Formats: sequence, structure tokens, C-alpha cells
Amino acid sequence: MNNTVNIDVILVAAGRGERIGAPENGPKQYRLAAGKPLIAYTLSRFATLDWCRNIYVVHHADDTELLSSALNAFEGQYIAVIGGETRQASVMCGLKAASTQSPDYVMIHDAVRPFVTPENLSDLRDALSPENGALLAHPIADSLMRTNAQNEISEPIDRSNMWGAETPQCFPFETILDAHQRAQKDNQAFTDDTSLAAHYGLPSKIVENQNDNFKITYAADLTRAHSLLRGHDMQIPDIRTGNGYDVHSTMPGDHVTLCGVEIPAQITLNGHSDADVGMHALTDALLSTIAAGDIGTHFPPSDDQWRGAASHIFLSHAAKLVREAKGTVTHCAVTLICEAPKIGPHRKAMTKKLSDAIGIDPKRISITATTNEAIGFVGRGEGIAAIATATVVFPPMDIEES
Ligand code: MG
Repeated sequence: MNNTVNIDVILVAAGRGERIGAPENGPKQYRLAAGKPLIAYTLSRFATLDWCRNIYVVHHADDTELLSSALNAFEGQYIAVIGGETRQASVMCGLKAASTQSPDYVMIHDAVRPFVTPENLSDLRDALSPENGALLAHPIADSLMRTNAQNEISEPIDRSNMWGAETPQCFPFETILDAHQRAQKDNQAFTDDTSLAAHYGLPSKIVENQNDNFKITYAADLTRAHSLLRGHDMQIPDIRTGNGYDVHSTMPGDHVTLCGVEIPAQITLNGHSDADVGMHALTDALLSTIAAGDIGTHFPPSDDQWRGAASHIFLSHAAKLVREAKGTVTHCAVTLICEAPKIGPHRKAMTKKLSDAIGIDPKRISITATTNEAIGFVGRGEGIAAIATATVVFPPMDIEES
């Protein structure tokens, strides 16, 4: 295809697209994906080509303002045309508008296929000739079945030589205009321009497309378009680490409770609840990952209902708050700091208690212990301390669009 031919574009954007749902958000072609209206992405694919002459955007009569605001960055780069009742009628409106400029060829494209690439468009251009149209299409990968009235499979269909038709679909201008006029006169409806052209004697060549040039039809398509257009580099992982520290003083007694396990000892720990420093430190670490204050915020010592309370209640509550904030706890580490009792023999039982309270695999929980080398208050046996770290993964963060 030489550069002296005139190729115009008709972007079909007049549909109501009801299958996408949420009609209060307006027609899908004007909905935002990664901060911009879909139609703006689609138009930009053509507006950046030096070989494409006029771009006719066929829109619904009710959408004139929506269109000009969606495409305000492209002022002067397209011609707005009001469409008809059906897609076929809207294409006809575009063809009539283009006919005043007598293009040699026309590319007809759905405004809700924003993923057409510059390579697709130049491949199509290369496939054009006065004798045929050309369209992007992909081979059908799924098995095809026909069903009967009871929705039972009545016959499999051989998928060889079967293609999924996409757009753009491109044609010699006078031939497709004539075919559309005849279809209008015959009151014949077609699902796409290639079928219409074929019916009136103009064959089209397939230009195989291995890219995903999907049409945004359902809400899930819009979500997918959003993440593709946003690009992977527009998301950052949200992995948070929370710390906690606790200490309780000792007094003479017969047991201490550490990480949910009662260990016989000559001492006990002073505290409002069961004074479990391990679980308290880990509760604070979890709350830290969602910046939800600390254990005292949720279970104030002034509240009598927590007197003597088992600390797994606090830990489970913190884990529940983290889950509600869409966090997944991937790892917890607790270090107990005391001269006595010995922790090693109880590590497995402690791990089980923490695992049950948080609801994660025991393999994701580490309990370590150290003495304080006989120095300081812990070294003198006046108290037992614990530090804890929780690692929680949240859904990726979107980088805010300006
Ligand atoms: Mg405490």
C-alpha cells in the first residue's frame, strides 16, 4: 500500500452497551480505565498514525457533551458524527460523512477495543487492495459446540478454519459504501461489516492477530482493561512489618503464662490479664501493620471485663482486624527474654497456641528465647520481656494518578 492513498477511520461509539451494567455510570466507551476514558485510548491509536487522514467518531445524539469532554485532548483531530439506531446504521452515518472527502479506503473500528496496536494497523493497511477488505481476527482456541433448545450439546463443530472476527475491518471505500446502501435498501442486518461486505460480493482477508484486542463488553472486561492500561509498574506491593514489645514484672508464684502455655515456675507475672508478654507483644505487632493503635486501645486495663483474661482473645481479635483490612499474615516472630523458665521444651506447644489464635500455619511462626545475661531488671529476674514482629501482605497499592 503506497502512501498516496487516503485512508480514513470510522470509530463506532454510538452503542449503549447495556451488558456492562451500572447504567448510572453512563455508556462504557466513556468510562474510565486507569484514569482516562476508554474512547480516548482508542482514538489515540489512530490519531498518532501519520498515514491515517480523517477520523470520524460516530456517537449517540445524547452523548455530544460526553464525547467532547472525553476527547478534549484531541480537539481538531477528529470529526464528530451522530449515529443511528443500530451499529450498522451508525457505520452508515460515518460512511456518509466520509463520502464528502472521497477516501480510497476506510477502517471501521469499535471504540471499545482500545488494545489495537500500531503493528495491527500497519498489517491491515498492507492487506488492503481494491479487490478485498481486510480484518483483524484470531483463530478459535476453544472447542465449539452447538446446543439444542434444552441447552444440551447437540453437535460439536470443527474449529479448523474458524476465526473470531475483531475490528478494525477495512474496505475500499466506494465498495463498502455501496454495500451498506444496498443492505439499508434491502433492510438486511449483519453483525459486522465484513459479513455485510461478503454478502454483497466483497471478500475480506484475515490478518491474524495474536495480541489481545478484546472488546470491552462486561464489567470484568473493564476491570481487566484498567489493570492492563495501568501497567504493572503502576502498582507497588504492600508488605508491612509491625513491631511489638511488652514486659511484666514478676512476683512469687507457681506458674507463668507465655505464648498461651502455662509453665510451672517459682514466679508468676503481675498484670491485669494473664500477663502473657509473648501474646501481648505479638498483638501489638499485628495491630501495628494496620496502624490500629495498640492492645490498650482495644482492651483498656481500666475495663474490668479483661481482668485475668486469656490473652489469646487479644491476639485473635488483632488477627481478625488485620484480615478485615484485607491483610494476610505471612510470618510472626516472638522473642522471649527471661532468665527462667526455660522456653525450649515449650516451644512446640507455644507455636500451636499462636497458630490457633492467629489462624496461620505453625511453619510461619517463630519463637526464640534469650536470657539477659544476668544484667538489668530481666537479668535480676524482676520481669519477663518479649519483642515480636509480624509481617502482613496487603493488596497492591495503586500509585495515585495525578
Ligand atoms: Mg502486657
